[in-house]
Amino acid sequence: MEDYPRTVLEFEQRFATEQACRDYLVKLRWPDGYSCPRCGYRQAWMMKRDLYWCQQCNYQVSVTAGTIFQDRRKPLQLWFRAIWYVVSQKNGVSALGLQRVLGIGSYRTAWAWLHKLRCAMVRPGRERLSGIVEVDETYIGGQKSGKRGRGAAGKTLVLVAVEDKGEHLGRIRLHPVADASADSLIPPVEDSVEKGSVIRTDGWRGYASLSSRGYKHTVVRQEAEVGKNLLPLVNRVVALLKRWLQGTHQGAPRASHLDYYLDEFTFRFNRRTSGSRGKLFYRLLQQAVVIPPTTVHDIRGGSSS
Ligand SMILES: [Zn+2]
Repeated sequence: MEDYPRTVLEFEQRFATEQACRDYLVKLRWPDGYSCPRCGYRQAWMMKRDLYWCQQCNYQVSVTAGTIFQDRRKPLQLWFRAIWYVVSQKNGVSALGLQRVLGIGSYRTAWAWLHKLRCAMVRPGRERLSGIVEVDETYIGGQKSGKRGRGAAGKTLVLVAVEDKGEHLGRIRLHPVADASADSLIPPVEDSVEKGSVIRTDGWRGYASLSSRGYKHTVVRQEAEVGKNLLPLVNRVVALLKRWLQGTHQGAPRASHLDYYLDEFTFRFNRRTSGSRGKLFYRLLQQAVVIPPTTVHDIRGGSSS
């Protein structure tokens, strides 16, 4: 049962209090009812500040403990509004935009919130791509394409995997990689694609070992110049990604922030047909309560993006 607000009015009415927000998180975190994170016991005393006290082992836990909402200084209501705003902006959100809409005093806070939410966009233990998957790499950042196996200043090489669903593009995965060697390319492919799937690549030798690793490997083109002549599905995804980066982030973001932008794009792309912002809101919150907390300190980069 997926229970979420359909409209902004429903959203405002439903999450008008801190308690309503907490109750919603409780349902997302413990859909079958509370169970102690330490011993699994299902009975707890309710303490003040929404603390659950296990009746068996005395462990105390709040619904936000261990999530991105842990240690928050702002009310959950504001967090919920931030999430609603983020999922409402199809073309992505800037920290400045979020700061203005929520009336948050500091740009740095808005920036940290966005990056926490982007971490929540990558579902832990998510399913791998399957079926027929096209894999290729592209450079993000900089103007010119480079040669494989060489460094390219100011650019990040990104591995792109796309499911071929015939009539349309399936799900995607994006991974920044150090270079185009097999050592750099194979682990993210194995992380992204189910064994037994068909993987289409060009003839680049970095992919040569795929058939010995449980995949049906098809080489569809011998051309192996990175950033040019991308395989067709990858090419479409990369065009959308670059346009999105252009519109949202005024072009290529700093390399140190790129992985977060790739996560946001992946989250949006893989849910682009679900349409309803309420459903996106639900999904993002659901993921936000199951991931470990991140702190600003964990986020590389810092005061600007
Ligand atoms: Zn317990």
